[in-house]
Amino acid sequence: MTGFNTRAIHVGSEPDATGAVNPAVYLTSTYAQEAVGVPRFADYSRVDNPTRHALEGCLADLEGAEWGVAFASGLAGEDALLRTLAPGDHVVLGNDAYGGTYRLLTRVFGAWGVEVTCVDLADLTAVAAGLEPTTRIVWAETPSNPLLGIAPIGDLADLAHAHGARLVVDNTFATPYLQRPLEHGADVVVHSTTKYCGGHSDVVGGFVATSDEELAERLRFHQYAIGAVPGPLDCYLVLRGLKTLGVRMERHCQSAAAVADFLAGHPAVERVYYPGRPDHPGHEVARRQMSGFGGMVSFTVVGGDEAAREVCEATRVFTLAESLGGVESLIELPAAMTHASTSGSVLEPPSSLIRLSVGLEDIEDLIEDLGGALG
Ligand code: PLP
Repeated sequence: MTGFNTRAIHVGSEPDATGAVNPAVYLTSTYAQEAVGVPRFADYSRVDNPTRHALEGCLADLEGAEWGVAFASGLAGEDALLRTLAPGDHVVLGNDAYGGTYRLLTRVFGAWGVEVTCVDLADLTAVAAGLEPTTRIVWAETPSNPLLGIAPIGDLADLAHAHGARLVVDNTFATPYLQRPLEHGADVVVHSTTKYCGGHSDVVGGFVATSDEELAERLRFHQYAIGAVPGPLDCYLVLRGLKTLGVRMERHCQSAAAVADFLAGHPAVERVYYPGRPDHPGHEVARRQMSGFGGMVSFTVVGGDEAAREVCEATRVFTLAESLGGVESLIELPAAMTHASTSGSVLEPPSSLIRLSVGLEDIEDLIEDLGGALG
């Protein structure tokens, strides 16, 4: 099995003794033991669960990783990974990262003595200047949320490794269908599987993948010792989402490109952020490390915040809501919604920036909806 879609459909879903073509949802908290201390599969579901096991095998395989560890949310996975740090350790973070990652690093790990420097990851001189002798992690989100910035994974891996640090890539926006960071030298991939991996806005989940055995063992330990595990039904939903990830991403990319072109030609639009457009500063790097440019488009409008709020509240097909990556199109104002926690920091997005998650509805309806809202 070599093709992406074939693996997405079959890895972890091999028929069991019953021949069922879908994995069972093992709704169990515990397991019968053959003798004292001799369980058949595991001793307890926080430690292991066959449905979770199936998801972990499938998504790790799609990322080209030896190991994958599933969590109850994207942030729970990030937390488990960051707990491999110690007080005094330092992290270099992209200056346009997801607000929740910034909040976790500064307000939770910051209070514990972890230090963070935010830099423009597309500027390798700035990254090199941001590295400290205590830097343990360079954390890149590419494309980034919400500015769709592109970070050069291979170059960042070289820089991080030369300083004895790991490169972590948040691959939530790209998904392994469009970009596999480990192939470019990254050490760890993190996901909010809530987004494209699940794909239907019906589950919250997270994932960390790596081929570093020692790190994988620490992550597994954190998974059961801290306990932010996803339930079996949630694991099933993400695994089911992965089966259609390839076809969904093809359509997301196609429609997002059409929406970006439409917005770029609209007089009420000031600036469009989409890595698939040749005028995007990261376009060439994105072409090298991605096989498509994704389903997210951001833009600013003429008239500032007030005009942007009006657009967000005027669409009918695009639902005004946080999150992204589902079959339905969503619209939001990051500075007031998903990224409110970055207020006053270098990560604060422009107040008139609108973020779109372009879904799988008919493209004519999406463009007509945006045209109507822009006036
Ligand atoms: N990483 C990115 C890029 C995100 O957009 C999000 C959530 O929006 C997360 C991580 C956190 O994931 P979750 O909401 O599943 O905890």
